[in-house]
Amino acid sequence: MGIGKERMIMTNITEHIVKLQVRETIKELGCCDCETCFLNACALALNSLKSKYVTTCSGEILSEFTAAEANNKAEILVEVTKAVMKVKQNPRH
Ligand SMILES: [Zn+2]
Repeated sequence: MGIGKERMIMTNITEHIVKLQVRETIKELGCCDCETCFLNACALALNSLKSKYVTTCSGEILSEFTAAEANNKAEILVEVTKAVMKVKQNPRH
């Protein structure tokens, strides 16, 4: 037995992209970058977006999926910007 490196995982690509984008947008907009604000912004944005699940090998890089999602990127950017602005105006801490 033994668990190989080829173990499959299921992941939400939209969540992956949103998290990366929220980090960037928080910096751009000068929002508080603590974990609470980061996660609040992620949750707000993800609630407005469709989740997109894929399966991949756990070691695999997700960049190819990020590229595949490029047509959805504009929508993600809009929702992330809205979410970060909301958190910035009304931080929950
Ligand atoms: Zn904060």
